[in-house]
Amino acid sequence: MKVAIVSAMPEELKPVLEVVNIKKEEKFGIPQKFIEAKYKDNDLVLCVGGIGKVNAAISTTRLIEKYNPDVLIMIGVAGALNPSLKIGDIVVAKDAVYHDVDVTPLGYKIGEVPETGIIWKGDEDLVKDFENICKENLKDKKVLVGRIASGDQFVASKDKANWIRETFQADAIEMESASFYHTLNLYGKKGVVLRAISDSADEEANIDFPTFLNEVSQKFRDIILSYLDKT
Ligand code: SAH
Repeated sequence: MKVAIVSAMPEELKPVLEVVNIKKEEKFGIPQKFIEAKYKDNDLVLCVGGIGKVNAAISTTRLIEKYNPDVLIMIGVAGALNPSLKIGDIVVAKDAVYHDVDVTPLGYKIGEVPETGIIWKGDEDLVKDFENICKENLKDKKVLVGRIASGDQFVASKDKANWIRETFQADAIEMESASFYHTLNLYGKKGVVLRAISDSADEEANIDFPTFLNEVSQKFRDIILSYLDKT
């Protein structure tokens, strides 16, 4: 089985990179990087895909077209929208939406990309598998299966965060997942997004995000290794 693991930033992928056997590296544009590796019997492609929706779509497309993985897992950090989520908790994304898409003056729903779609789903089996793996590995943290809102904005405002939560019923906010799921849907590929909460998308988010980025990203190492051990 060939598994792709994608993050936006190098910090998010680092804990996983440290425990795999690296074979080959490709740089493609800035900041994309694709690293072929092995872990036990699994072939891996680890990808730093860059921040934001466009980078995520480009890197996911390249991953699929060039490396053709069986499964794609996106890991990274996110701001909490659901008030029950605290720093270090995990969201397994059952689906994702674009909170910054607005073609409502032409009669489309908020978040709807014209003639394309509005809600982008992850693979149901992988969502279930990773819910269980996360719960087994992180006994002291909340693991929520929920919705992620993505957009090309770092949200650091309670008012904006509340608007996104109310408008889209989203649990967490970040900048890549919806375009990742969108791309996987077009290619008919299986994938899942896992996000660790780094901030609350409020007025303290610009302080919390860099403070907790490395610490919460550590959680993905055991989760990914548990999954690879089971496949
Ligand atoms: N590494 C850069 C920019 C980080 S942008 C720097 O610090 O200069 C924020 C990244 O974290 C994005 O990849 C996004 O997916 C995620 N993220 C975490 N909290 C977020 C929030 N409150 N709003 C939007 N994205 C957030």
